[in-house]
Amino acid sequence: MIHAPTNSWWQHASTDTIREKQGMLLHRFLKYRVLPFSKYYSQLFQENKLSADDFHSIEDLAKLPFTSKSTLENPKDFVLIPDKSSLMRQPASWWKLLRHGPSKLTQYFEQEFRPIHLTSTTGRSAQPVPFLYTKQDLANLEAGGLRLMQLSNTNSDAKIINAFPFAPHLAFWQAWYASLGNNCFVLHTGGGKVMGTHGNAQMLSKINANGIIAMPTFMYHLLQHAIEEKMQWPQLNKIVLGGEKVPLGMRRKLRELCAKVGARHVDIVSTYGFTEAKLAFSECVTPEGHEPSGYHLYPDLAIVEVVDPESGTPVPDREPGEIVFTPLNSRGTTVLRYRTGDLIEGGISHAPCPHCGRTSPRLIGKISRVSDIKRLNINKVKGSLIDLNALEHLLEDTQGVGAWQIELRKENDDPLALDEVHIHLVSNTDDHAALSAEVTRTFRDQTEITPNTIQFHSWQEMLHLHGVGKELKEIKIVDNRPS
Ligand SMILES: [Zn+2]
Repeated sequence: MIHAPTNSWWQHASTDTIREKQGMLLHRFLKYRVLPFSKYYSQLFQENKLSADDFHSIEDLAKLPFTSKSTLENPKDFVLIPDKSSLMRQPASWWKLLRHGPSKLTQYFEQEFRPIHLTSTTGRSAQPVPFLYTKQDLANLEAGGLRLMQLSNTNSDAKIINAFPFAPHLAFWQAWYASLGNNCFVLHTGGGKVMGTHGNAQMLSKINANGIIAMPTFMYHLLQHAIEEKMQWPQLNKIVLGGEKVPLGMRRKLRELCAKVGARHVDIVSTYGFTEAKLAFSECVTPEGHEPSGYHLYPDLAIVEVVDPESGTPVPDREPGEIVFTPLNSRGTTVLRYRTGDLIEGGISHAPCPHCGRTSPRLIGKISRVSDIKRLNINKVKGSLIDLNALEHLLEDTQGVGAWQIELRKENDDPLALDEVHIHLVSNTDDHAALSAEVTRTFRDQTEITPNTIQFHSWQEMLHLHGVGKELKEIKIVDNRPS
């Protein structure tokens, strides 16, 4: 039977209560939903001589081996599929439903377990992995959407543009279900790929939207376009960002651009989601002059651990590590202790939020992807590990840098030659020489890299380089090395 997540205790319960409830939810979820119906996990538990009764707390999770992208070779093995024999292992409350007749019981089961929706990973480096949703998952997604709206202080009378591209990807559908959950008006434009930058800007003007949900780079281009077209959006007071990293420098730039279209008090709220979670987490509204307090987690729907990426051991609060995800109320495709490959700089905090007072745990600070740490041959010493995440933050945080793209090339396009890093920039200042020197200096000081070239472009050229209107996601790092 479908249980719509309630919207109460996760926000204000004490840390002890949250942990206690999570332990209880974990045990029940494993016992009645995962182990009877999941091919992969029933085998994994057997192989490791584990049962649901071994799991009553967050700490108990450490007994369970991780699941990672490479484990997901046969996605069907991760789908919860009930069969007749597993029905016999249901709790007594289920049997009470039989008094409504066997056909009613079947109907309840079908509603809860039949996959009716799918989103997939974007799969730039690996094969896309499909994640199936049942009505229960969509109820969770809608609850996540409502929470996103509440955390961003978006009321039901708001008018919002959803500029995520139409695609079977989490971001678009999270925004769709946010409008359902919050019962508010959202115009789903399909983003730049469907309506172009101009079409989106016109729509925002036409419906007098006071909020927009979009990817940061697209939002940047949209605001640039509005400024060029002398549009005014004084009513705009909410920007919800998702789909890619949002460095502090990006927020500063968006705020500056907003002021130029007459929007002087804009809340910029960032979200963090991934396909495997089947929902997104959100920051609350950051008061002016303060730093964001992190992504607020939903402890009734998931346990999030932060582990040492090398040893896999959970780290203490506020220490950096890799984000590991375990759902507590998922159906359809279900992964346990999933290693996201995302590194969180400030770790997890269980202290109440300094901005909104909610007590749910929070993920704090910059998020970087392990896959963005690449081995490059940049000098005679072969194979330096280069963290492209750090380069991104560095560029975004440099005053004077508007938009940017990092291009990896080979010297003379020779596959055997050294790797080169070229930086493409849109400048906010006229003094290109000074900005170029500044970028080179900060790169040299903070990374092992000196950019091979720094090239300046017009904003329109950067639109083209980023593939705005062509790509599902703007291209900020491009690898043009011949393979
Ligand atoms: Zn908060």
